[in-house]
Amino acid sequence: ADFLDDGAAVVTGGSSGIGRAISLAYADAGADVVVADLQRESRDPEEDVPTAELVEAETDQSAVFVECDVSDPSDTEAAVAAADDFGGVTAMVNNAGVFRGGDFLDVSEEDFQSLLDVNLKGTFFGAQAAAERMVAGDGGAIVNLSSVAGLRGSAGFATYCASKGAVRLLTYSLAAELGPQGVRVNAIHPGLVDTAMTTEDVPIIGSESGEQYLDGIPLGRFADTGDIADAAVYLASAAGDYVNGESITVDGGMTNT
Ligand code: NAD
Repeated sequence: ADFLDDGAAVVTGGSSGIGRAISLAYADAGADVVVADLQRESRDPEEDVPTAELVEAETDQSAVFVECDVSDPSDTEAAVAAADDFGGVTAMVNNAGVFRGGDFLDVSEEDFQSLLDVNLKGTFFGAQAAAERMVAGDGGAIVNLSSVAGLRGSAGFATYCASKGAVRLLTYSLAAELGPQGVRVNAIHPGLVDTAMTTEDVPIIGSESGEQYLDGIPLGRFADTGDIADAAVYLASAAGDYVNGESITVDGGMTNT
């Protein structure tokens, strides 16, 4: 089945960065899109047209913005319900996330909890809200944004790695449980992608440490958001029809070399 053409997608964190690129790529592939985010505006001030408006201007599909904090399951449920106006959710992208580093010995309970609430709890209940409708309907595809930080550990990023590793095993567990009910569940593990997350929150790209990372990337460049959106399209379209419980690493070769 093609869960994009003739279907509706919900993209959390769809206002900026990777989620914005996925929203546009999904619309190009035929999906109506619900952009679910804390804010309507992109975190990148140069992107002055909000995602839903851009989708409507540049594609033949419909799009709406729904204000949503994924750490509150009732917000995520409302975002998924908004897709009912477009025939119901067939693709769910749990993309909203936060990235922070810091010495393990300094991590407070609040730091820990607030990160896990978005990256893990948000993904968990986002998947649950979408799966409930997909199982009752004609199936669907759930795509979770993990990270290369969900494949291997990293000094200074214990909380983030723990959250993304958990997303990976959550993905495999849901693939086992929901596959028989027509719902495929996969994860994407991006390397370093040029977004506000890697230029502002943890300034790696554009800094000296970024140059060091670049030396370890065989393709010799950081990812742009479209590189990740291409993988997300594959996973939800007919091309990915037999892909379930898979982790797709999109990192220019950084992790395995
Ligand atoms: P970004 O900061 O550019 O965009 C994230 C979007 O999520 C923003 O629009 C933000 O408002 C929204 N958001 C944050 N918290 C939210 C919440 N509680 N509820 C709803 N929306 C919320 O980040 P990005 O680089 O596009 O990252 C997207 C995903 O990809 C994240 O899960 C991130 O961990 C993952 N990822 C990013 C990279 C990278 O290098 N940028 C690498 C690996 C994985």
